[in-house]
Amino acid sequence: MYIGRFAPSPSGPLHFGSLVAAVASYCDAKSNHGKWLIRMEDIDKPREMAGAADAILRCLEAFGFMWDGDVIYQSTRAKYYESALQILQKNNLVYPCTCSRKEIADSATNIGVEGAIYPKTCLQKNIHLKTVKSGAPAAWRINTNPPDLTLLPFAFHDAIQGEIAQNIARDIGDFVLKRADGFFAYQIAVVVDDALQNITHIVRGADLLNATSRQIYLQNRLGMTTPHYAHVPVVTNAAGEKLSKQTLAKPIDTQFAPQQLMSALQFLGQNPPAEIQNATLDETWRWAINHWQLENVPKQTKIAI
Ligand code: GLU
Repeated sequence: MYIGRFAPSPSGPLHFGSLVAAVASYCDAKSNHGKWLIRMEDIDKPREMAGAADAILRCLEAFGFMWDGDVIYQSTRAKYYESALQILQKNNLVYPCTCSRKEIADSATNIGVEGAIYPKTCLQKNIHLKTVKSGAPAAWRINTNPPDLTLLPFAFHDAIQGEIAQNIARDIGDFVLKRADGFFAYQIAVVVDDALQNITHIVRGADLLNATSRQIYLQNRLGMTTPHYAHVPVVTNAAGEKLSKQTLAKPIDTQFAPQQLMSALQFLGQNPPAEIQNATLDETWRWAINHWQLENVPKQTKIAI
């Protein structure tokens, strides 16, 4: 059974980039007679925008998306993330870290794909002292090259982007699973929920391509099955920046839902025919699901909006 999902973060209303990810995962699930779930990734409370979660759901409803089951909210699921962290703690794969951002910036000698590589200062300290600075709030990091594993360049197949190889120990470093402020990080929450919701296929934006090796590493370490991945191209603005709240992307206007759905399908390389240019939303969806071809989705696109 195919089970797909759309997992928006309520840091702002839906914009064209998130609509594209929703349309792609929906068409792929429905054309495979699968289920399509919605998970609200409201885990980063400080970055959340009040009312955005509801606004996203109303917008999806106005577009005619039909999801299976109840929407789940990550903010209610810390217990599951904590159990996963405990498994990793028992297996000595994670360690507490009390370094400040400045300490890391000052001590890091290698720069990876997402900035400074954490130089494992607290791992060394823990090994020598078997203790953490008492009382200091600690983040939890996962060791990306534990003694029992030489992390060879690690590869997976993406249905759109092809073979993707990354050496997370070298390119990312020991990443944070739980922050010092007590919030769990996206990487562990997404892996735990994809597993608990039995997600088989993940279709999402290519901005997350780089995070996938980390997620597969966690799945392996937690004994979870790895789903199939497909990363659709990211929508950029005229300045070449990814649409997001930070780049002031316009919220979707549901008044023009059929036109926006057509644009999303065009962006996804689906070539909707001229006859459906003025079709209703229902007719456009019917065409989109019946004709969905994942292999026609481009790896990258020059289309900016
Ligand atoms: N919540 C993430 C986002 O909105 C997406 C997570 C995912 O699809 O894995 O960027």
